[in-house]
Amino acid sequence: MTARPVLHADADAFFASVALRSRPELAAVPVAVVAHVYIASANYPARARGVRSGSLAQDALRQCPELILIDVPRAEVEDVGDALFDIFHTSATAVEPGSIEEAFLDVGATDWAGAIDAGHALRRRVARELGIPISVGVGSTKLMAKLASRRAKPDGLSVIDSGEEAGLRTTLPITDVWGIGATTLQRLHRIGVLRLGDVDGIPRNELQHVCGTAMARRLWRIREGTDDAVVRPVEQRSSLTAEGSTAGYARPDKTPTELAEACVERLCKRAERAGLAGTGITLTLRPETGGKAIVLKRTLVGATTGRATWLAVAADLLAGESVPRLAGMRVTLTGLLPLDRVQHTLF
Ligand SMILES: [Mg+2]
Repeated sequence: MTARPVLHADADAFFASVALRSRPELAAVPVAVVAHVYIASANYPARARGVRSGSLAQDALRQCPELILIDVPRAEVEDVGDALFDIFHTSATAVEPGSIEEAFLDVGATDWAGAIDAGHALRRRVARELGIPISVGVGSTKLMAKLASRRAKPDGLSVIDSGEEAGLRTTLPITDVWGIGATTLQRLHRIGVLRLGDVDGIPRNELQHVCGTAMARRLWRIREGTDDAVVRPVEQRSSLTAEGSTAGYARPDKTPTELAEACVERLCKRAERAGLAGTGITLTLRPETGGKAIVLKRTLVGATTGRATWLAVAADLLAGESVPRLAGMRVTLTGLLPLDRVQHTLF
């Protein structure tokens, strides 16, 4: 077992929590934020009424007629996500991002009391500075920390200590091991692997055959307690992403060009603030009819934060394509480089 407990920090109902910062009077009533026509995130009162993210807004309203719908405040969500990671980086010696709103942290604590204190401090700081709740899990490995943070939700801290961990390594339902695809899960269930301990009864070559060599190895490691406990820091962000929907619940429809411009503006501002310049851009267009996304890419010769350049490139990419009616768009600034290094090469 590792000497260093791992933390997993995860914002609760992130998009909804950000939207509720300026509407505290709605915190106790069912609220969901909408992207295009789908529920992107629901607060806990809405979840208690059966509202699920990913469902159609109109279905959610049928399920819970007093549900209040708000458009995803994209710019605010991205700003708060960036600020959350700034706090992670100043609170931990290593940060391994999971998504825009969750990460594994190595806070440098060598004992459990130190790690738990750091978790409480982190939660207080995020609540104070950003006005959103996060949950923190503490465990001896990344899996244990993540299981703990899941249990801590909403707005809590949970610890899986060594006694509980020993039990979980036998009794944990295989569906709670993250990263196993639906098909593999079905195949594992079919050979009788419902809980971690069931792995013991399966010949090694059969398990490898059913779930692949890498996953079989991971399951054996989890079983014996030698699974991944290393928080792998990302030296710098290699890309930044902004997203938008063409239509919203309470705002006028946007054209693809307006959507791209809004995303580029936000990306350039965020890149500049992070001291990074981009070398490439990717536009991912999501057609309204569903189906395959259209991906448009361009790489420049040098790195730049110049928004005029990126706006022109985005417009040019869109002009070269017959764009269908869109549900939304994702714009990614890629190949990010530190600004100081870029200026060195220029002068
Ligand atoms: Mg979350």
